[in-house]
Amino acid sequence: QKATKSPPPPSPLRFSKFFQSNMRILVTGGAGFIGSHLVDRLMENEKNEVIVVDNFFTGSKDNLRKWIDHPRFELIRHDVTEQLLIEVDQIYHLACPASPIFYKYNPVKTIKTNVIGTLNMLGLAKRVGARILLTSTSEVYGDPLVHPQPESYWGNVNPIGVRSCYDEGKRVAETLMFDYHRQHGIEIRIARIFNTYGPRMNIDDGRVVSNFIAQALRGEPLTVQHPGTQTRSFCFVSDMVDGLIRLMEGEDTGPINLGNPGEFTMIELAETVKELINPAVEIKMVENTPDDPRQRKPDIAKAKELLGWEPKVKLRDGLPLMEEDFRLRLGVEKKN
Ligand code: NAD
Ligand code: UDP
Ligand code: UDP
Repeated sequence: QKATKSPPPPSPLRFSKFFQSNMRILVTGGAGFIGSHLVDRLMENEKNEVIVVDNFFTGSKDNLRKWIDHPRFELIRHDVTEQLLIEVDQIYHLACPASPIFYKYNPVKTIKTNVIGTLNMLGLAKRVGARILLTSTSEVYGDPLVHPQPESYWGNVNPIGVRSCYDEGKRVAETLMFDYHRQHGIEIRIARIFNTYGPRMNIDDGRVVSNFIAQALRGEPLTVQHPGTQTRSFCFVSDMVDGLIRLMEGEDTGPINLGNPGEFTMIELAETVKELINPAVEIKMVENTPDDPRQRKPDIAKAKELLGWEPKVKLRDGLPLMEEDFRLRLGVEKKN
């Protein structure tokens, strides 16, 4: 005798398959400059659900305006120094102020964010089996004695200086990542990001490219900090986001340098901004801050070989894109 069968309940497997085809991605610091561009790129893929966690210290909801209310997007006001209990497949851990004036404003908080914040995200990764990517920094090389800087260079960092909350904080964060990897088998990725610029940087965030562009648009002198011969290498944000995603999706733990090897002195940068944006503006030499690295340029051989990545946007092409965004936000129209 045949029992009348009701249709089988959906198996947990079928559910998990359904959910697995969607990748749930946490972006800490996703309301910030790099984070919000990363969110834009991740949201382009219809299989991704994106959760942003941010305490809005330097970031803003405005940067995520277009995703608020989107069914695949969620924004949580939360401080990463506190425990976070959610379920995710991948974690891009960016939360940390990146501009010297902000990370020096409350240095104890900065080091807590780097150390306790990273520990919490690793604890979360361990509990749910997620892969986690840390955005470390070229600051781990300190005032480098090797130039350009390969990943194998251990750096020259002052442990008790005013920048230490940031650079030593990131160094400990890297250590924690590798300890969780070795001790608990967590899948980790570490990017060492070099100076990055582009639309959505805070206008008054104090970093050199945003300062010069805002000054040029306001008709104020461009403040080159002494001696002006110090160098940096500037990467446009779309290239950076591309590198971060390749690193996350690739097989290598890193650390991997991500940056644009085009190297400029601060005087050269000021002259370029002046030429492109406002030739009438003056260039003024001002006092520098302590422990300013004298030179910085990434060796990106590893990123090229392992990720097939190199930056595409040259400084002269990226600056006008940032100028456009700053004009809109400052309400300064282009003459001609
Ligand atoms: P940003 O200041 O624009 O973004 C950082 C975000 O983290 C902000 O939205 C901020 O509100 C949030 N945040 C800070 N502390 C937090 C906390 N305790 N809890 C939750 N959220 C917190 O900076 P960015 O330039 O977008 O930098 C992003 C990451 O990239 C940082 O980890 C930074 O160290 C790293 N990085 C950036 C650069 C660069 O040139 N922009 C260079 C090297 C490394
Ligand atoms: N943690 C978290 N979310 C989680 C799991 C852990 O925020 O889903 C935090 C937890 O509060 C702890 C840290 O991550 O402070 C490290 O967690 P782990 O389990 O590695 O260490 P333990 O809790 O044993 O100290
Ligand atoms: N700088 C400058 N004028 C400014 C701000 C910064 O000349 O208005 C210089 C600063 O001395 C440093 C470089 O620009 O040598 C990069 O500084 P930034 O704060 O942008 O980033 P850092 O690489 O130091 O984190």
